[in-house]
Amino acid sequence: MPSLTKETKSTAWHAQPLDYEVIAIGAGVCGLYQTYRLQKMGIKFLTLEAGSDVGGTWYWNRYPGARFDSESFTYAYSFSKELLDEWDWSERFAGQPETEAYFQYVAKKFDLRKNIQFNTRVASARYNEENRSWTVLCADGREYTTRFLVTAIGVLSAPTRPRYKGMDKFKGQSFHTFDWPSEPLDFARLRVGIIGTGSTGVQIISEIADKVADLTVFQRRPNWCAPLRNRPITKEEMAEIRASYDKIFARCAQTPGGFIHGPDDRATFDVPEAERLAFWEQLYAAPGFGKWLGNFRDILMDATANAEFTRFMSAKIRERINDPALAEKLIPKDHQFGTRRVPLETNYYECYNRDNVHLVDISETPILEITEKGVLTSDREYEFDLLIYATGFDAITGAYDRIDFVGENGVYLRDKWADGPLTALGVMTTGFPNLLTMAGPQSGSAGQNFPRGIEEVINWWSELLEYIRGNGYTKIEPKQELEDAWLEHVIKMGDGALLGKEKSWFSGYNTNLDREYKPRYLIYMGGAPRYRKRLAEQAQSNYSGFNFS
Ligand code: NAP
Repeated sequence: MPSLTKETKSTAWHAQPLDYEVIAIGAGVCGLYQTYRLQKMGIKFLTLEAGSDVGGTWYWNRYPGARFDSESFTYAYSFSKELLDEWDWSERFAGQPETEAYFQYVAKKFDLRKNIQFNTRVASARYNEENRSWTVLCADGREYTTRFLVTAIGVLSAPTRPRYKGMDKFKGQSFHTFDWPSEPLDFARLRVGIIGTGSTGVQIISEIADKVADLTVFQRRPNWCAPLRNRPITKEEMAEIRASYDKIFARCAQTPGGFIHGPDDRATFDVPEAERLAFWEQLYAAPGFGKWLGNFRDILMDATANAEFTRFMSAKIRERINDPALAEKLIPKDHQFGTRRVPLETNYYECYNRDNVHLVDISETPILEITEKGVLTSDREYEFDLLIYATGFDAITGAYDRIDFVGENGVYLRDKWADGPLTALGVMTTGFPNLLTMAGPQSGSAGQNFPRGIEEVINWWSELLEYIRGNGYTKIEPKQELEDAWLEHVIKMGDGALLGKEKSWFSGYNTNLDREYKPRYLIYMGGAPRYRKRLAEQAQSNYSGFNFS
């Protein structure tokens, strides 16, 4: 890895013109739209991408069963009517291949690849006060200077593996879901072990249970999974969706999560029990996140109200599993429904009724080590041909920690954020001028239906960039007061919600790192409309929370 400390430019380098006005890191969902906007502005910029093509999360996550849990037509970019007119979604919740093809289509349609340098991982970026620029150093040694540096490096892009003894000893194939191989696997002959039962594990298990010879699931803590209810979109339905795009996006803009599902106005106990149960049955039978995000308004705020729905969901799980003792193992007892992100599933619970699928509760019989043959728990050894780590990510800040961002006075960003992120509206952080963190920690775009959030924040930043250029400024940084006020607000919003406090990636919980938690909230829990208002207030006040020079 090239070193930051080495002086890589000539002594008079800061007198030289900069290579670019903007460098964006990442060509995923966010970086691709950033590329589009910068290209449209006609400024000199470059997008750097570690992968060999566009798509980000939809480029990397190729595991079987990977698909949307947002309705496809709410995940599409809204910025181009032509694009909306041209693209047909084949399923209500599209699979990874279709989604990846969509982003490739966008890149081709708008000729975006010409400004993206692929196979380029950024190792470090250092701010230079002398000429108010960033020097970006890539892992392959290439180096570029730029006035503004924009991160679009993903929310869940730093995978983490367990740290069990003996992981290198296993003689079969093993990989993290994020690094799924491109060659097809002949599942029919394979004895497969999988560790992890988050959204990713649940999708894979459901997809491969009837394709593999044998499947053993190592579950540490169960999640509250709920039916996805996917189905094809017919040509007629697609025409209707197309005609309703304005309404669909307007609806997403009103809801806290940027989805078409928003909370019901009623409070749980204001509704008579029979009516309440009928409503929940209706939610349960409907596609998507309605059970989680379209529920009574207090379900994710009030533990007593939530307990009622938690009971309802427990009964649903029991109904679907033949063995009552097994059902109890699959029902979370340590947290209430929806207080961690809900995995949406297709026949997940039914998989456990199959003879070739086995659940190992590693909260009872912990994994001691990975052996040459498979997994050794406190109970016995399990033998596998393939071992899958569906063990999640160092979420939100993990992608930042992997890059040496060095700001004013030689301060490293990971040191500044060691006790949790400190940001101004989640878009900048003091001491790191001209660094824009799109969908970064504590931004309102990170925790919502992603394209909805990132289009807004990139539109906001694009206007800000026009403002900076129009005024001939070369430096922007947030005021300390804005950063302090934002932290206070983020904490207030987080404290009022049940979601985000449980042990999950939302709260920076990850036992595969040297720390278990990242203190302070990683995600803004105040909802998309409130976040949008905060961004708009800044624009209307000529960005009063920022210093320009
Ligand atoms: P995750 O939700 O963090 O789940 C990781 C799983 O691995 C958990 O069950 C965890 O157990 C387990 N685990 C981690 N380390 C372990 C260890 N050392 N030993 C045993 N078990 C271990 O990660 P994910 O499933 O990849 O999902 C992350 C997020 O990606 C989702 O919440 C969602 O936002 C997104 N996603 C979206 C979709 C989609 O449909 N669009 C699909 C997949 C993922 P504990 O619970 O005990 O920690």
